[in-house]
Amino acid sequence: MEVKDCKDRHCPQHGQISIRGRTFKGKVIKADAHKTVTVEWIRPYYISKYERYEKRRTRIKAHNPKCVGAKVGDMVEIKETRPISKTKNFVVVNIEK
Ligand SMILES: [Zn+2]
Repeated sequence: MEVKDCKDRHCPQHGQISIRGRTFKGKVIKADAHKTVTVEWIRPYYISKYERYEKRRTRIKAHNPKCVGAKVGDMVEIKETRPISKTKNFVVVNIEK
């Protein structure tokens, strides 16, 4: 699934963007906006009053370059970058098989 004419300047492999910071894995739940996906994963959150964990959701918008092309339902790896737009500072680097 290699696309050679990836002219995306926000692509970590063919563009200018540099990856630094945190890495997360999650599921793509939305891919409506242009070159953007929403990634969600569940994290346990400890409630001290009840001494139990509850599920909390994290949703992050990530840039989806043409050469990655993640779709809804894919498990993806996202990495932190400098801010790409108002709400995006992550980029999809890999689709987990
Ligand atoms: Zn690319």
